[in-house]
Amino acid sequence: MGRIVCVANQKGGVAKTTSVVSLGAALAETGLKVLLVDLDPQSSLTFALGIDPDDVEISVTDVLTVGAEVESAVLPAPEKLEVLPATLDLAGAESMLLPVENREFVLRQALEQVGSRYDVVILDCSPSLGLLTINALAAADELVVPLQAEMLSHRGVGQLLDTVADVNRLLNPRLIVRGLLPTMYDGRSTHARAVLADIGERYELPVLGPVPRSVRFAEAPGLGGSILVTSPRSAGAKAYRDVAAALMKAWRVAAPAVKKATRKA
Ligand code: ADP
Ligand code: MG
Repeated sequence: MGRIVCVANQKGGVAKTTSVVSLGAALAETGLKVLLVDLDPQSSLTFALGIDPDDVEISVTDVLTVGAEVESAVLPAPEKLEVLPATLDLAGAESMLLPVENREFVLRQALEQVGSRYDVVILDCSPSLGLLTINALAAADELVVPLQAEMLSHRGVGQLLDTVADVNRLLNPRLIVRGLLPTMYDGRSTHARAVLADIGERYELPVLGPVPRSVRFAEAPGLGGSILVTSPRSAGAKAYRDVAAALMKAWRVAAPAVKKATRKA
């Protein structure tokens, strides 16, 4: 079973989806096999990978609510990624799951079907602590929490960490918090530097990154890829490569040896 990484923060606009795409691309670039899972009814991850949710026939909603096979729903995405796409009807999935026995474990059970095919599965959560996010936390080995480096109050992060403690106790003792990931960091701002210095201590958690603020992130989807390919030498691309390397180090996973291209005779 590959590592399952949940990317969550119930605040919107903190770069969850951007981090899922960029980190996924950085891991895939090393040769790892990566599956991204869109758990947001707004389908931003699916869109970001160039897939129109209206064209998706089998989605994560079908996997969670009517037992469709994960394999039947997974689509190929750019940069050697694969995605379990979302569609707008995912908004109704939570209420459909409510009466289901073991409703917190539906995603975990579904991912068990394919876990051995991937080195890493990354879950992109919606901005809420609802049942879909609980399913993600119940399925994951570890959690990465993106947060805006400039915000002094990270209201919600404390609540998310309380939820993790409940999940540890009731649903998934394996889950660890891999780290906080400050995003949109402006190193020229003394304020941002002060916040960054304070974050890790305040929550007593490792700090990954930071990821610099850059307009290239907003441009990337329009250019048809992650920042890893649209601006491969940018500071933003380097930041996500560094986070990927830190994760692989923690997992003791070496990049698979890349086969040399064999010359045609
Ligand atoms: P979330 O998934 O948490 O709602 P997104 O990943 O969709 O957040 O990001 C919100 C917006 O911020 C997007 O327009 C994205 O392009 C932009 N963004 C993400 N990371 C950065 C960054 N490091 N610098 C500048 N803009 C960023
Ligand atoms: Mg998002």
